[in-house]
Amino acid sequence: MIKLTIDNRPVEVPDGSTVLDAARSLGLNIPTLCFLAGVKENRPSCMACVVRVNGDTRLVPSCSTRVTAGMVVASETPDVKAARRAALELLFSDHLGDCISVCQRACPAHLQIPETIRLVAAGKMDEAIALVKENIVFPGVLGRICRAPCEQGCRRKQYDGPVAIQLIEREVADLAGQRYVPACAPATGKRVAIVGAGATGLSAAFFLLKLGHRVTVFDDHAEPGGQMRAAALPAGVLEADIETIRQIGLEYRGSQRLGQNFTLDELRPQYDAVVLAVGGMAQTDYRQLGAAATERTIRISPVNFETSVPGVFAGGTCIRASYDPARSVGDGKLLAECVAGHLAGRSVQIGVKEFTSTIPKLTTEEYRQLLNGANSALTVHELIGEAQTAAGRCCHCDCRAANDCKLRVVAENYGVNPKAFAGEHRRAFEIIRQPGGVIFEPGKCISCGICVAIAAQAQEPLGLTFIGRGFDVKVGVPLAGTLADGLQKIGAECVRHCPTGALEFER
Ligand code: SF4
Ligand code: SF4
Ligand code: SF4
Repeated sequence: MIKLTIDNRPVEVPDGSTVLDAARSLGLNIPTLCFLAGVKENRPSCMACVVRVNGDTRLVPSCSTRVTAGMVVASETPDVKAARRAALELLFSDHLGDCISVCQRACPAHLQIPETIRLVAAGKMDEAIALVKENIVFPGVLGRICRAPCEQGCRRKQYDGPVAIQLIEREVADLAGQRYVPACAPATGKRVAIVGAGATGLSAAFFLLKLGHRVTVFDDHAEPGGQMRAAALPAGVLEADIETIRQIGLEYRGSQRLGQNFTLDELRPQYDAVVLAVGGMAQTDYRQLGAAATERTIRISPVNFETSVPGVFAGGTCIRASYDPARSVGDGKLLAECVAGHLAGRSVQIGVKEFTSTIPKLTTEEYRQLLNGANSALTVHELIGEAQTAAGRCCHCDCRAANDCKLRVVAENYGVNPKAFAGEHRRAFEIIRQPGGVIFEPGKCISCGICVAIAAQAQEPLGLTFIGRGFDVKVGVPLAGTLADGLQKIGAECVRHCPTGALEFER
């Protein structure tokens, strides 16, 4: 047995172990990308696992460095972490992929756009309705009055026009009718008062009701809906969306004006949390609302929407300079998350952006690769009533591995800036499809060699190999074979262990 210390902690491991083995036996989480125990161990390339040994200036990969007696390893120091981050940023300098699609990132209401589109394209309308309604409580309204920034961002826009995302959302909403009744968690016994029955207040009410809380919404108008009532909407659209909230227990108290018919200090003892979701609150004299506060104006935390008065939250047009219905709907969802966190006694932080790498502008030929199989150009007018055809135009630019990509997880943990080393040169965008099976995106490959080693170990007749040299090296099938030739037996295993979305199943 060999004794050493890692981060000042003593550890004893069998002779022949690596520093990574020793670190893992201590429960330390050293990231690895190109290492796969029992298959590929000794040729490190990603450098995500570097550590400092015995104070050396040079860092070494822990996956291939053998332990020696008395070794002193530093695995968590700021310089080691910075080196790992730099190694990851170098990988992203040559990485071509959208982890999250541009349309998804642009939606202020947080609709799961690509997944919704894929369900519609597959004709799974009940599932599409449930997904849309779970995420957006006003799809009928937003399907008509949203400014559709998703379509502005849609990758296909630069080629032959965006996917008609708003039309798809609208047609799913119209189809929903009364078919969808949201499932709610068991009653929590907690009560929330929401002041303001516009897009933010009602959206917050919906998500809090779904979590099992009792919600009462107050508004100075007789009917709920706020500024959405002033929008040019076909009859019944707003009511149909609001009906979903009524179905799960919305308690509405109309013609009740805060500061006139009731005060904040009257509400607070009766409810476990109060949400202010009325426009212009940021400029309001707080004391006029009947609150025993010393400040003249409400201070709102940008971290969790809680105001300077504990248990009172504020969001939506309260804190925004202008009204955007989709953003207001999205704000309601975030407010609900913050209030639910408060009621459960846990802290919530909003505004944490998910990590994503981004494909730069593509050439026409690269667009053709991306579009493979997607429906051809059609105008929105031609697509009315044809949501499934419209959905078939989406080219699935979100990464198929986004939820289990090891590279992305590690990048997020290390605060990686994927553009830190962005340069002029980039790889060509390419997708290689094995019909009905594996799809290979060379732009997402980090040349870890795991698939090459798996194929070799399984004695694939042709297998995979590295082609080229230096920075331009890439994984490919020898003798110009197809992917199907190279991966006859072991494709699924390669997909499972690929640390990125370079190898995935065509879904
Ligand atoms: S392979 Fe990973 S890092 Fe690359 S685009 Fe896909 S999810 Fe993002
Ligand atoms: S092509 Fe599809 S996934 Fe890509 S941005 Fe457009 S709608 Fe979103
Ligand atoms: S395709 Fe192969 S070499 Fe490339 S990242 Fe995936 S497993 Fe590694």
